[in-house]
Amino acid sequence: MRLGFVSVLIVVAASASAQLQTDSVSSYCCQPVVQFQQLCAAPQSGIIWVHIHENETTVLPVARQVLDSLKQGCIVTWHHSGNRNVSFQLGDSVYSVDPNRIFTPEGVRATLEAQSRYDSAAADYVINLGKQFTRSYINHQKLVLAMHNNSDGGGLHIGSYAKGGIYENDAADVFINAKEDKDDFFYVTDSRFFDYLKMRGFNVMLQNNDAVTNDGSLSVYCGYLGIPYLNIEAQLGHHEEQKRMMLAVVDMITALELQ
Ligand SMILES: [Zn+2]
Repeated sequence: MRLGFVSVLIVVAASASAQLQTDSVSSYCCQPVVQFQQLCAAPQSGIIWVHIHENETTVLPVARQVLDSLKQGCIVTWHHSGNRNVSFQLGDSVYSVDPNRIFTPEGVRATLEAQSRYDSAAADYVINLGKQFTRSYINHQKLVLAMHNNSDGGGLHIGSYAKGGIYENDAADVFINAKEDKDDFFYVTDSRFFDYLKMRGFNVMLQNNDAVTNDGSLSVYCGYLGIPYLNIEAQLGHHEEQKRMMLAVVDMITALELQ
């Protein structure tokens, strides 16, 4: 079976605020089309903000506001169904994957098995989808800044990475500020980022790039390739917190002379 992709760049709107560019990536075989859309105030060389989970809806309003105020930066977002997972049809079968688990072959197999079922044709499609994204937006960067939302008191929080937490083995170091909401935290792959954000009093964990579970997520992919990566994980609806965290990253870029 031939699996291919077409890429088209369209500038949709120009206004005083960040411009929306649609980089439409469609496959010959599968529906629905997954689009990668960029919101750009102004391109920032070597730096990209990333929003992968479409149902995490606090991210984009916050990012648009901050990028507009700075008049700098771009965020790329995945657009398909409004859901977290990407579902697609191949032949008579429908498959589903978590799009933040598709950046290594091991992750692709695991997420197909967890969300639907694995076969080689579906894996080829998903691997190509991940490569289309990383080739276009990630591989040439010197700093990747992801943004996610989680749920209040849900499964994932800063304590998940502390001693006794379910992801303890993924972390090389953890700092917890008891005054902060445990759902609002940074996930970083670079010890310079860890030290800076800890100094600022934010909850932060440092990924152990050697021992981290190969789940196919973007943090693992960037860790393996040595691309500095940071994720702002904030509770859904925590607009002010996620904004404050984004602005701290902007400060960090200046303080650490990352640009
Ligand atoms: Zn997410």
